[in-house]
Amino acid sequence: MGLILPKESLPEYLLEISKSLPVYAPVESEGVVKFGMYSWGDKLEFDYETTTMPPKFLFLPHGERLLEFRGDRMEESAADGRFVVFMNIIDAQALSILDEAFAGKFKDNYYFRRRESSIVAAIQNNVRMKNSFCDELDQKNRERFDLLLIDRGDCYLLEAKTQKGAALLKSGFVSKAAKKEKPKSKRKSKKLNIQKISSFLDKGPEQGMWHALADECFACGICAYVCPICHCFDVEDTVTLGASGSRCRNWDSCMLADFAAVAGGGNFRSRRHERIHNWYHHKFSRAVSERGRPDCVGCGRCITFCPAKIRIHDRIRECEEAK
Ligand code: SF4
Ligand code: SF4
Repeated sequence: MGLILPKESLPEYLLEISKSLPVYAPVESEGVVKFGMYSWGDKLEFDYETTTMPPKFLFLPHGERLLEFRGDRMEESAADGRFVVFMNIIDAQALSILDEAFAGKFKDNYYFRRRESSIVAAIQNNVRMKNSFCDELDQKNRERFDLLLIDRGDCYLLEAKTQKGAALLKSGFVSKAAKKEKPKSKRKSKKLNIQKISSFLDKGPEQGMWHALADECFACGICAYVCPICHCFDVEDTVTLGASGSRCRNWDSCMLADFAAVAGGGNFRSRRHERIHNWYHHKFSRAVSERGRPDCVGCGRCITFCPAKIRIHDRIRECEEAK
């Protein structure tokens, strides 16, 4: 027996939570769904098909001042992340992969301060994200979130996964479910063969496919910016003559021409086909050998927002079939 929250109570429920913590949620305005801070009267869209920006920006801001210094005194940014965010389960899976990436050899404290002080609520529904192929990947079972909301038609079945999630089970809004319902049968789909994809990618960037893609791609980097898992950043120090300054990090993309540029005029990946190959290779080979799974949940954003209409899904199927 679980707890249920009627969908009609959702606005009041979020309003109640927002009295103690800021609440971020997918909100629709003029036909566009975005993650934003919830205010009473906002049109919630928990069944979103996509958002241009995934919720990663809440944990890894587009631009962030990491520290400031003056003389021999240094002050680090607080990286405060006390908030609640509601997102669909595919975006929550992506966030779990981001956790693994930032927990690596050098733990990223700025990211984890926000992650550990925030509360993530994942929405499980039957909405298929635009251009998604998530059911062809196996990214379940390693998700890390605090509360699960399972769509049951006119209500959500709530399951707290952590103590932080249990704190969101507000009495007055939730009630006991009448009976345990069986989950609906899952869609069947042909899973991607990650091992085959990875073996082809390991052959390097000189395969014809990467040169052909380079002729189509604008090298704009949008695929990386909209991806809920891509996390490349650039760190910039600004120093004044008065011995003070700051260190900032800003989103970057390995698809951009100067991403691998170094002092002295060198560039490790100056050619477009090398950068495209690197993006795919990182996601479907390097991430798999480092963390045991691809850096992709199949959310489809990189397909939906690519101005050259390049479809990552078709390309990785090509890698799978290549000899
Ligand atoms: S969004 Fe499309 S065109 Fe732009 S870099 Fe990515 S693949 Fe190339
Ligand atoms: S690579 Fe594309 S499909 Fe995969 S998670 Fe990133 S945006 Fe989504």
